[in-house]
Amino acid sequence: MTDYQIQGWCPGALRPMASGDGLVLRVRAPNGRLEPDQARRIAELARRHGNGLIDLTSRANLQLRGLDRQSHTAAITALAEMGLLDRDADAESRRNVVLSPFAPVDGPAWRLAEAIARAMTAPDAPQTPGKFGFAVDTDPWVLGGVPCDIRLRPVGAGWQIAPDSGDWVIAAPDTARAAAGAVEMARWFARGGIRDGRGRMRDYLRRKPELPAGATPVPQPVPHAAPDPCPGAAPNGWMLGFAFGQITPDQLIACADAGPLRLTPWRMLLIEGAVAPPAIAGQVLAPDDPLLRVHACTGAPGCPQARADVRALARELAPHLGAGQSLHLSGCAKGCAHFGRADLTVIATAPDRFDLIRDGWVHDAATGHGLDKNGLARLLASPQNTASATRQGRPHA
Ligand code: SF4
Repeated sequence: MTDYQIQGWCPGALRPMASGDGLVLRVRAPNGRLEPDQARRIAELARRHGNGLIDLTSRANLQLRGLDRQSHTAAITALAEMGLLDRDADAESRRNVVLSPFAPVDGPAWRLAEAIARAMTAPDAPQTPGKFGFAVDTDPWVLGGVPCDIRLRPVGAGWQIAPDSGDWVIAAPDTARAAAGAVEMARWFARGGIRDGRGRMRDYLRRKPELPAGATPVPQPVPHAAPDPCPGAAPNGWMLGFAFGQITPDQLIACADAGPLRLTPWRMLLIEGAVAPPAIAGQVLAPDDPLLRVHACTGAPGCPQARADVRALARELAPHLGAGQSLHLSGCAKGCAHFGRADLTVIATAPDRFDLIRDGWVHDAATGHGLDKNGLARLLASPQNTASATRQGRPHA
């Protein structure tokens, strides 16, 4: 039994989600790229119609917060003018494709992601549930830690289509057949993997369904976790980090002034073609800044399900983290900010009460209960924790 509400869908522009600070509107930029003018106009929308907070999401989208019904109407009118609005809310929800931000514009991965998005928004698209999505990678693979249901990876001249958590793949010799194969895999999933309108690939595979034609076993499950890229030089530009993946309109405009933007699933922004970071107040420059190893959800007061202001606590605790140690702070047991393990997972149970899970994720058993802020800070600063961080000595997933 959960003490939080599972929505089973992600917000969009046409179907915003109600939150503690008003409506949350998600902008799904095609292939995760924004021209500078588009980014500037989105920043203005956030300033004029929202509460000025913009989230960078783990699906490589932007989220405006704090809208009301009237301002939502104005915002989607503007997004339509920018070419950033889908035909309807169902098509928007199915166009759930994360493209590696390192993919060259109009290269094979770019065209593959476009083709999948086009097929998934067509009238005859498989009716996948709200959170079902695709990840289209580049060589070398960088999206291993990005949650998705169907993963496409370049292998030689062709593509490998892999179901999440599967021990088999389907091979495609070229981009056109990779797009068709990925959509066919989604159709195979939709025939048996959906219950009560929900479903994810990994849960379906646990039920041992009959495999689709062309499924080829691989020796071991396709690796899921890869170290996340850091702020700094990227193959096609410069990556900028922001605490908790949240930016202001001023910061977004400053980024847009430096070039076209690629949205990343690591909640960072990539400025195409940049060879150095532009001067933007509040960005996280150092790759080893502990704030980049902290995942903290919206928490209170923004989220109605939150028990505590976890972002304020995250700023207090970050300096106490051991070398390379990761921390996931969650306003409730739902764990929206991070899908996966962290060295330390802290879940709010009351405004100043927290449960602690070591080397696990939100659904694992807690080893500490009812800790307060001071107790958490002491625990992180303790020699035992520092020693354990040194022993672990690995990047967070
Ligand atoms: S994890 Fe955080 S953002 Fe998600 S529902 Fe709970 S409090 Fe809200």
